[in-house]
Amino acid sequence: MELSGKTALVTGASRGIGRQIAIELAKAGASVAINYKTDEAGAIETLHAVRQANRYGITIMADVSDYESVRQMLDDIIQKLGKIDILVNNAGISHIGLFIDTDINLWGNIMNTNLKGTMNCCHAVLRHMLPRQSGSIINISSIWGNVGAACEAVYSASKGGINAFTKALAKELGACGIRVNAIAPGAIDTDMNKWMSAEDKQITLDQIPMKRLGKCSEVSALAVFLASEKSSYITGQIIAADGGIF
Ligand code: NAD
Repeated sequence: MELSGKTALVTGASRGIGRQIAIELAKAGASVAINYKTDEAGAIETLHAVRQANRYGITIMADVSDYESVRQMLDDIIQKLGKIDILVNNAGISHIGLFIDTDINLWGNIMNTNLKGTMNCCHAVLRHMLPRQSGSIINISSIWGNVGAACEAVYSASKGGINAFTKALAKELGACGIRVNAIAPGAIDTDMNKWMSAEDKQITLDQIPMKRLGKCSEVSALAVFLASEKSSYITGQIIAADGGIF
């Protein structure tokens, strides 16, 4: 299997895209650390699926927006799994509403979870990847980080920041054997899009050339590719999985 012997951390893996990525990395042969913030039951469900794939997994609690919590998580993973080869920064939150009506504390939450959370995990994992001169970091961005979405201004800014951070970090780490890429999903069928009314969904579908929402498995397949040696000469890229929107 293409990820045999590899160890991965997936943040926010208690449901949705993160859960599917954790499961597919396991099916490709990796041992997986399943991060969650509060949804332990969801993380345990992910763990059961990892075990069904006959792979080793652990659940691990940490709030990605808190550096100390992230540093502790990485130390625990190294102690339990021995090393870390793959980091998937998937944890994220969104908010729908006009920017003018958005509470200042909410901006902080979105930026701290999405952008600072990604930076926290990258910084903490590099303490373990740099000495080994090896690793693949995959940041889950969004197409709105490229083009901006009305009523998701702060979310778009956080994902645009992830895109710039991904490209910059890839340049710093290119000669160190560590690749850094991002996946920019379009509209994927998860809890994050449960707010959509039938009318909102139709407006979204009208913008998608493939005329359907994406599946988590259509994002996780890309994550497995970017984690594996099949993508060994790819770094600093923001790759869309969006049914043709962007
Ligand atoms: P989701 O809401 O189903 O899952 C998000 C996960 O992140 C949850 O498990 C949640 O508990 C976790 N999380 C939130 N804050 C956290 C924190 N501080 N620390 C640790 N975990 C935390 O959403 P999803 O659709 O599966 O989204 C996953 C990622 O994909 C996000 O980064 C999101 O921005 C991105 N994305 C989603 C879509 C989409 O249409 N669903 C599109 C583009 C990008």
